Amino acid sequence: TGTDTVVAVNDLTCTYGGRTPFDAVKNLTFSVQRGELYALLGTNGAGKTTTLETVEGHRSASSGTVTVFGDSPTDRPAVRPRIGIMLQESGFAADLTVLESVRLAGSLSGRQDDALRLVELLDLGTKKDTRMAQLSGGEKRRVDFCSAIWGSPELLFLDEPTTGLDPAARDRLWDVVADLRANGATIILTTHYLEEAQKYADRIGLMHRGTLTREGTLQQLVAGEASRISCIAPS
Ligand code: ATP
Repeated sequence: TGTDTVVAVNDLTCTYGGRTPFDAVKNLTFSVQRGELYALLGTNGAGKTTTLETVEGHRSASSGTVTVFGDSPTDRPAVRPRIGIMLQESGFAADLTVLESVRLAGSLSGRQDDALRLVELLDLGTKKDTRMAQLSGGEKRRVDFCSAIWGSPELLFLDEPTTGLDPAARDRLWDVVADLRANGATIILTTHYLEEAQKYADRIGLMHRGTLTREGTLQQLVAGEASRISCIAPS
């Protein structure tokens, strides 16, 4: 029902300016229901990050509408307290420690949490006083994730959350995601890993050149593929 719709994207187009304007996202429509994990999957440049950043309010739509909990995502006072965001590029200052970074980023949400608890949750306890400049890429990504889940947001945006993480860290991240979902969180993520989308997503949106080419549960996507194949296969 409508009241369970957390995110509604309707006919969204996102155009990057410049000498030759380019529609990175074109006439995109999809919605995400409360408690769902929705995965955007697609090739480099398909428009996944642009979509995610527009839905979480980081950039504005060129045309079409986006609502998050019934509000425009660019209405930060309404939306920011309810969402957590992990982008591909983190904006952490190099000279802040891990704990300071998580605390600072978390405080922007307006929610309360304990930085040490989060850092230990992602196996970064021994790095808690290390400066960001001295972390590995995968460790930085885990700090990003800690900041995003600060205060257990109702809606979590994760842009390629497991890229650059070793297998143990990936498993740990998915365990934490499962705990958040058990408490009712809704999650939208982008990934290049089909196996992760298969394993963890309730629904998958396949993007190509700014549009959704297919969408559904894994079973629906597989069934769609089968019927397409049977159409062209000789009987
Ligand atoms: P990836 O898997 O590589 O992260 P993506 O699906 O997330 O890709 P986007 O980052 O959304 O794709 O990019 C979509 C398209 O928009 C690409 O063709 C990209 O070159 C273009 N694009 C992205 N950012 C800008 C920008 N700031 N200015 C102009 N074009 C951009």
